[in-house]
Amino acid sequence: MHFRRLRLAGFKSFVEPTELRIEPGLTGVVGPNGCGKSNLLEAIRWVMGEGSAKSLRGGGMEDVIFAGTAMRPSREFADVTLVLDNEDRGAPAGFNDSDTIEVQRRIERGLGSAYRLNGRDVRQRDVQLLFADAATGAHSPALVSQGRIGAIIAAKPVERRQLLEEAAGISGLHVRRREAEIR
Ligand code: ATP
Ligand code: MG
Repeated sequence: MHFRRLRLAGFKSFVEPTELRIEPGLTGVVGPNGCGKSNLLEAIRWVMGEGSAKSLRGGGMEDVIFAGTAMRPSREFADVTLVLDNEDRGAPAGFNDSDTIEVQRRIERGLGSAYRLNGRDVRQRDVQLLFADAATGAHSPALVSQGRIGAIIAAKPVERRQLLEEAAGISGLHVRRREAEIR
């Protein structure tokens, strides 16, 4: 399973609808300071179910919505879709018939976030579990934000264990166990 396309609208500086193809292999994003490189990585983490506005450099979750400039009015919603390639059927059960999986998150001012998987309304938990089972997610050690390298080096043993568990693909099991215990 790998990323194939990223669509953004109204997300941070990506105010107009934008679609990026993500080819297999290594992807580099280059551009001058402030052009939106980190915003792209944050869009990926956000659509995967990131729940912390702070880790997206915002005070509240609505801060991901385009805030407007002197030239352009602010927007009322932000929408990000991540298209996953599932031709290798690497996705967990439930997606065995789909070559692609579209994960969509939309936030509207005053209304909060809504998620869809292949067009079907789902919970944030369902999106997080999809990625956790695929050994990735908003907190995957594969997504290293600016400034996080130092944090990984300085991590406490417990935190480092969490990173290793995510890399090994067993954090989805922990989430499921916690859910089972709550019920
Ligand atoms: P650097 O090379 O310095 O790391 P970068 O390419 O990573 O830069 P980003 O941090 O992704 O740049 O983008 C910063 C830009 O995004 C700033 O111009 C900031 O004003 C803009 N931005 C962030 N959030 C919003 C928002 N909600 N509405 C409008 N613009 C926003
Ligand atoms: Mg940056």
